[in-house]
Amino acid sequence: YYNQETYIYLDGDFVKATDAGIDLFGQSLHYGYGAFEGLRAYSTHHGIRIFKAEEHFIRLQHSCEAINLPYPWDNQVLIEKSYALLEANNLRSAYIRPLVFSGSNMHLTSAKDAHIMIAAWEWGPYLGQNLLRVCTSKVQRLHPKSFHIEAKVSGQYINAILASSEAIREGYDEALMLDHDGFLAQASSENLFIEKDLKLYTPPLGNIFPGITRQTVIELCKGLNIDVVEKKLTIQDVHEADSAFLCGTAAEIIGIKEVDGIIYKEDWEHTIGASIQRKYKKLVLEEENYEVII
Ligand code: PMP
Repeated sequence: YYNQETYIYLDGDFVKATDAGIDLFGQSLHYGYGAFEGLRAYSTHHGIRIFKAEEHFIRLQHSCEAINLPYPWDNQVLIEKSYALLEANNLRSAYIRPLVFSGSNMHLTSAKDAHIMIAAWEWGPYLGQNLLRVCTSKVQRLHPKSFHIEAKVSGQYINAILASSEAIREGYDEALMLDHDGFLAQASSENLFIEKDLKLYTPPLGNIFPGITRQTVIELCKGLNIDVVEKKLTIQDVHEADSAFLCGTAAEIIGIKEVDGIIYKEDWEHTIGASIQRKYKKLVLEEENYEVII
């Protein structure tokens, strides 16, 4: 993710990643009390473009507000700094990771002050480019009454790490996680869509993370006259689907080959997911005008 020459943005300055000291007595390190984002920059015909930068920084601000972490920054400035960071690191297409973390404090009380760092590095699609083998996980997602599950909060990701590492240990690529009512919510860090009889289905907001890519998929479908139904999905719905895919900024759009050993019969290239995957690529690379697609 970094070497001797890598710059990060830290509290207003660009500093060498290797020179950025870390406070060992902060709540973020000890309690996971921090919030972060994941964005992608693409090298387009019009230059370098960070996809949906504003939406991501607004979500970062909301995540901080949800857990009472101070957020004294201007999102437009942070977007400008993100572009400058890409330039400082000679990056054209990259994954961008802002992280807000608390200052020195060992109490279990709201943070008094906060720091922001933004890092960027080259990162291929998070789950690779091959169709995925996934399994339903024994690790459930956190209950919305126990946590702000709509916020991208650091500590919460231990839940995702447990689920995905269990899946990988059992020979799968990724885990599908149930909500507290036993419905399929999403993958450990991607949202889920299934296709059945030429319609897409995806779990509704409430027990899932509100992915920006999920919303983009819904908008792309509108433009293509494809019905998307937001509805609670059972394991059986997912097993009996014609096809399925995951989506997220890091993973982009990636098809699923099999769930719990049940292989989808539909050839991926002929699924709605594959057309959405192609449209998404055009959208982020600005090969087609947003207004034309949506
Ligand atoms: N679910 C979780 C738990 C995530 O962390 C992410 C990535 N931020 C997603 C889904 C996908 O969200 P997005 O499309 O906004 O990247």
